[in-house]
Amino acid sequence: MVEFNISLEIWRCIKEFKIDVLLSSLGYILELWESFSIFVLVKMKMNMKSFFVGLAATLIGVQLGACSGEKEPVQAIEREYVIVVHGGAGAIAGLENDSVKAAQYYAALDSALVIGDAILADGGEGTEAVKAVIRYFEGNPLFNAGVGATCTIDGAFELDAAIMEGKDLSAGSVAGVKYIKHPIDAAYAVKTQTEHVMLAGEGADQFAKAHGLEMVEDNQYFATPKTMKWIEQLKKESKKNGTVGCVVLDKHGNLTAGTSTGGRFKKQWGRVGDAPVIGAGTYADNEGCAVSCTGHGEYYIRHVVAYNLSTRVKMLNQPIAEAADEIIFGELNADAGNGGLIAVDKKGNIAMPFNSGGMHRGYLYKEKGKETVTKSVGIGKTMKMIQE
Ligand code: ASP
Repeated sequence: MVEFNISLEIWRCIKEFKIDVLLSSLGYILELWESFSIFVLVKMKMNMKSFFVGLAATLIGVQLGACSGEKEPVQAIEREYVIVVHGGAGAIAGLENDSVKAAQYYAALDSALVIGDAILADGGEGTEAVKAVIRYFEGNPLFNAGVGATCTIDGAFELDAAIMEGKDLSAGSVAGVKYIKHPIDAAYAVKTQTEHVMLAGEGADQFAKAHGLEMVEDNQYFATPKTMKWIEQLKKESKKNGTVGCVVLDKHGNLTAGTSTGGRFKKQWGRVGDAPVIGAGTYADNEGCAVSCTGHGEYYIRHVVAYNLSTRVKMLNQPIAEAADEIIFGELNADAGNGGLIAVDKKGNIAMPFNSGGMHRGYLYKEKGKETVTKSVGIGKTMKMIQE
């Protein structure tokens, strides 16, 4: 898989005359070859021919590595902490023209950033920030998570959520839950209080109840006047895109990702999307990046989008924004997969691409040595800076 991606990368570099990237890709292949040679050596008990092949590969690899290593590191940003949020992607760019509605979304995105900032600025853990932000979104009817979630074809609410920490790859998720007020809390409980990664359906609901999480009596608790209307008019085509997600780099250098959603409008009951599938809609690895996705989940599962991005950053040392663009505008576009993602790496570099009309999103970060934070929110193409 890695070699295959590298071959594609080399072809792209040749096409675009990106010789420096080409050299580093070649260097990487030679590193792989070198490891392979060492493996062969061990296997064949110091076969001399293999030894010289390995040595030659190492020498050439060192030469090429030196060439590519001389350029300025692309990912040089060092931020003390970063928080990026999304409130779903879709054909929503037109929202910007409705000043009242747009203001509501901007305010909600800003509130989410402020909640995360309060935790991170004090040195709080990334997981605490991600949980608090997603809890806030789950309680806000503007978004397709918790109250305000979209419904299944038979008018029920089946919610998915996940959380993952990059320092130890610990993860928890719930899928198709119906009575948990804050699915993100249940995902966290799965992560911290079980030996499992994912619980689904009734078992997950019962687990949450047994662990004292807030439950709702009636599944219709998650309905809003708007979703009730959809339920009444299920035959008419109407969609809600407002999955929520949050990725964080905390002051301790740890990355965390979380996602929560009602899934796709009119989904088959029992359908599970990408959000709770670790590696598809949610992923975090301190050596790669933290990722939360939104969009047509089936495509995100097939392209293992979140893991795909983190692994490009980790294994190919690809800049996060470039790698995210390749996935969203390359792999997903080629497959007609619609949506976007948010991501942050260990240096605080951010990526927020979307191939849909828009994506509710926002970021906040604090540069090392600076007193103030930088904050911005957006729905369509352009971002809006928010002054403190
Ligand atoms: N990705 C979610 C799902 O497919 C939906 C969304 O983000 O709008 O379940």
